[in-house]
Amino acid sequence: MMVEAPVGATMHPLGAGDVRTAIGDLSLSGLRDVVVEMGYPAYRGDQVGAWLYRSSVRAFDDMTNLPIALRHALGSRFRIDAMEVEVEAVAADDETRKVALRLHDGDVVETVLMRYPTRDDGTGAERATVCVSTQVGCPVKCSFCATGLMGFTRNLSTAEIVGQALHFLRWSRANPPVVRNVVFMGMGEPLMNYDATMGAVALLVDGAGLGVHRLTVSTSGWLPGMARLIDDRYAVRLAVSLHAPVDDLRSSLVPLNRRFPLAILLDACWEYQARTRRRVTFEYTLLDGVNDTPALARDLVRLCRGRDVHVNLIPMNPVASLPFGASRPEAVDEFHAILRAAGVICTIRREMGREIRAACGQLRTEVQGRSRTAVDAVP
Ligand code: SAH
Ligand code: SF4
Repeated sequence: MMVEAPVGATMHPLGAGDVRTAIGDLSLSGLRDVVVEMGYPAYRGDQVGAWLYRSSVRAFDDMTNLPIALRHALGSRFRIDAMEVEVEAVAADDETRKVALRLHDGDVVETVLMRYPTRDDGTGAERATVCVSTQVGCPVKCSFCATGLMGFTRNLSTAEIVGQALHFLRWSRANPPVVRNVVFMGMGEPLMNYDATMGAVALLVDGAGLGVHRLTVSTSGWLPGMARLIDDRYAVRLAVSLHAPVDDLRSSLVPLNRRFPLAILLDACWEYQARTRRRVTFEYTLLDGVNDTPALARDLVRLCRGRDVHVNLIPMNPVASLPFGASRPEAVDEFHAILRAAGVICTIRREMGREIRAACGQLRTEVQGRSRTAVDAVP
């Protein structure tokens, strides 16, 4: 069962022709600069930041500790929401919520909220995680990914990325558990949109107060971005979409591998691990009969041996029009068992939201397909 309805009322409509800047494109120090430019002391900028990132207020008029003239000045130059909700889909058990968000230029991206309840045996803390998109479409074009099928339209701005997290952060304040984790695993390759992605990281950490270790950036292996991340002051968790432990197979699944093959990719992973002391996650989407054999599990063990890694096995979410299926449960179990027996930390991701098309790019494909806006590249 699934509920799906237009819910435009939950976010302010952007309004055609609104030329104001999205305030989420300003860093926290940028907020200070703007209020100083408007003739107010810098601490007023910090107050604006607190309203934007630590409260659920969505209008400058409601920022009650600011002088009224400053509220007006801000409102005439900036808008708070960078996008509006087009469609929201809620899984019957309410553990997964997904929104398709319409951007000011009419394009649509997806954001997913995943709520994990305490387990039946009472263990495990309740938690909520938002999965945000970083691009409209994706240039990498992995062969099993719905987003890859769309082609690439454009990078998202910082305001559009942080706005996705804020959408569910605000909602979760009234509907706990409150969001504490953000994963950059929606549509797009975050490290190809480095500055906007890390701008959103900075606002979530310094503005919203999330722990940097609770933010995870997932990459298909864009080395120039990984090189920057190694030196970045925000030591986020790094997840690398491996999907195959040998070059030929990986190149057929993740075309970027031809440019940055496994040896180079793994060196960057180990360097990030050494620099940040954070365990690196390898994501491995199991595709029936393609990358799920015991021999490949053993090859993967060889890559991981002696390294501080966590392998996350992801059951494939089938995508209409793509010739891949989810691995059989016995194949998943055997793959998992081989890694565990060799001492590799390995988990199987709980499938969430398949009924609401939580696989990357699928809800957006539908929404965009039925909208009045041109569809960029859904074949
Ligand atoms: N571009 C980045 C982040 C977004 S994709 C990356 O590739 O890492 C997030 C994860 O979803 C990746 O591990 C990706 O391989 C996986 N994914 C994509 N399509 C999928 C599908 N149909 N089923 C399961 N996982 C999928
Ligand atoms: Fe892009 Fe990631 Fe999809 Fe590959 S899996 S096409 S990198 S979004």
